Amino acid sequence: MKKRFLSFSMAVCMVCLLTMTSCTAAEIPAVSSGNGLDSAKLTSESQPTVTFSDVPADAWYAEAINYCQQHGIMSGTTAAAFAPEATLTRAMLATVLHRMSGTPAVSDAPVFTDAVAGSWYSDAVSWAAKNSIISGYGGGAFGVDDPTTREQAVTILWRYAGEPEGAAAADISDAASVSTWAQTAVRWANANGILEGMTNNSRFDPKTNIKRGEVASMLFRFLSKTTGQQQPTAGSKTLVAYFSATNTTRPLAEYAADILNADLYEIVPEVPYTDADLAYYTSGRADREQNDSSARPAISGSVENMADYDVIFLGYPIWHGQPPRIISTFLESYDLTGKTIVPFCTSHSSGYSDSSIKSLAPGANWITGRRFAGGTSRSTVEEWINGLALPQPETAVDAVTSATSKAGFNFETKSVTLNSGYEMPINGLGTYSLHGETCVNAVKSALASGVRLIDTASAYGNEEEVGQAIREAIDEGIIEREDVFVITKIYPGSEMANPEQSIQACLDRLDIGYVDMMVLHHPDRNDVKAYQAMEKFVEEGKIRSLGLSNWYVEELESFLPQVTVTPALVQNEIHPYYQENDVIPYIQDLGIVVQGWYPLGGRGHTAELLGDEVISGIAKAHGVSSAQVILRWNLQKGVVVIPGSSNPDHIKENTELYGFELTDTEMAQINALDRNEKHDWY
Ligand code: NAP
Repeated sequence: MKKRFLSFSMAVCMVCLLTMTSCTAAEIPAVSSGNGLDSAKLTSESQPTVTFSDVPADAWYAEAINYCQQHGIMSGTTAAAFAPEATLTRAMLATVLHRMSGTPAVSDAPVFTDAVAGSWYSDAVSWAAKNSIISGYGGGAFGVDDPTTREQAVTILWRYAGEPEGAAAADISDAASVSTWAQTAVRWANANGILEGMTNNSRFDPKTNIKRGEVASMLFRFLSKTTGQQQPTAGSKTLVAYFSATNTTRPLAEYAADILNADLYEIVPEVPYTDADLAYYTSGRADREQNDSSARPAISGSVENMADYDVIFLGYPIWHGQPPRIISTFLESYDLTGKTIVPFCTSHSSGYSDSSIKSLAPGANWITGRRFAGGTSRSTVEEWINGLALPQPETAVDAVTSATSKAGFNFETKSVTLNSGYEMPINGLGTYSLHGETCVNAVKSALASGVRLIDTASAYGNEEEVGQAIREAIDEGIIEREDVFVITKIYPGSEMANPEQSIQACLDRLDIGYVDMMVLHHPDRNDVKAYQAMEKFVEEGKIRSLGLSNWYVEELESFLPQVTVTPALVQNEIHPYYQENDVIPYIQDLGIVVQGWYPLGGRGHTAELLGDEVISGIAKAHGVSSAQVILRWNLQKGVVVIPGSSNPDHIKENTELYGFELTDTEMAQINALDRNEKHDWY
């Protein structure tokens, strides 16, 4: 039979996945051939990498979930969780496949009795039915909310694939219990390795509902087998760096370099490890180093052209459950910001481990790698590499926009879609220290200049003026309420101790109906209680999105598990002298948008920043102001900007950020200005 792999030309956000109860052959009708679905290559449009708290790095489905998340095929059920054991509905499965297919336009509304026209699944259901991938039940229903059994899921994928030929017999012990209509599909999936991870002691359990982790695995294996295009292509410069004290890791590194057509670099210790050094539990050198997280064995030589590499495969043995400390030395020897690092390790008994080294290259894009046994074959390494979601070579424009696309910024609409589903502009006006008529005029001037994001706070004492300016702008026909995104904040102490009262007071002072986003201004002993109160206001429709300010990694780690709604935004101090390069990707990886306060350094510091030779030199080269360069640098890092100003010329200037683009070199020059110099205490 002919192949008709659907194109995966777009990676799109996906929600959950499939499950449904048993159904008959009639419910999954035969597919007619020749429906015009073309074979096409998988293209990778990377999503921000998310570390899911419920997906251990060594879980059998971790690699597949990582791949599906990065390619936008599946996302978490929350910002931090994937729910690999949960099931998913037929409508969700239709949505996944529709999106995998590039979200082709659909003109027909679904004809099923239980499918709502205009709903989130409407197009996908129509598309799946029209292409005979998933059809409805006999009574006219689609089974929108029904789960999917494993044999149904495999059959649906087989239809998506164009009903390829099956194989002889499926290598599963319960093949006899596979429904007749599913047998070809199950044989095909089995022969193509798509069922790997979905069998338990060779049982396939065809009538059991499929789980999200299994779905990720199924799709990952299908896409890896059928597109086979995940290796970096010519132009993506790849380095395979490895440390091998006993020659166990070396052959794998050599295979990888050969498969990837990459450069090979051996990390050679200045002082080689002797057998005695390596003997475990003798208090020998390796034991001591692994017990001391600050140990940094010196490396002989270095990679002089590290800047040339986009992707680094990093091979090492596992010593006492961790990478050898010389790997830490290697990572700390270079600026690996923006590079993709793919660890691979060898061990006889320990599992995969990279947790102790990831923080040493915080600006890198870490892909979860794999542990191999010694003596692993070339073909196993090749299969692994082919299944990786590696970045494709970037064009100059791609390189500049990669950080912004990681943050989800849309430079056409000048906005970002928050995890709450609401759209927020990526440049706005900060109103700290603006009061009275100055504040009203600044906000109205900003609105007249096209600014659609206003940041205020209870602590600024100007919510009434901000609200007045917005109401006046509405009355004057400059904006409608829906056009502007207003952020306000409640303060620690008595405000957070009495959150309902404080939140309502903000709403009353602003007097603009709802508030687009309410933020906790600082961590406080009552912050969880205050946030939970804000969650209730969200439920009541008085607040649309929630955020935090002055929350860093540790604070987020302890706060997030205590709340239900993941914050949509974190607002922290960020400017060229205080860059937060370790915190920004951490927050973004949680699916949370980062917003910078004091983008120009804050009052009292702006002259120094605007006069900085590097910044003013770049400004001159582009014919723009230093302020515009700094604001653009923020945007290209995926950071929303809210410069404060009462000067209409400055306010307008601060909106003109989209007619020029900083090059990689210019971005690197500004990145190099970081002094870890905070301009306020919090
Ligand atoms: P900022 O934006 O870094 O700097 C504001 C200063 O820059 C003002 O003196 C302004 O003067 C000047 N300026 C603005 N645009 C300019 C331009 N194009 N050319 C030259 N000078 C320019 O500091 P900020 O306003 O204090 O911070 C920004 C916002 O972040 C605040 O307004 C507030 O909304 C928020 N914030 C939040 C926190 C928090 O804890 N969450 C803390 C601090 C601030 P002119 O008025 O003369 O233009």
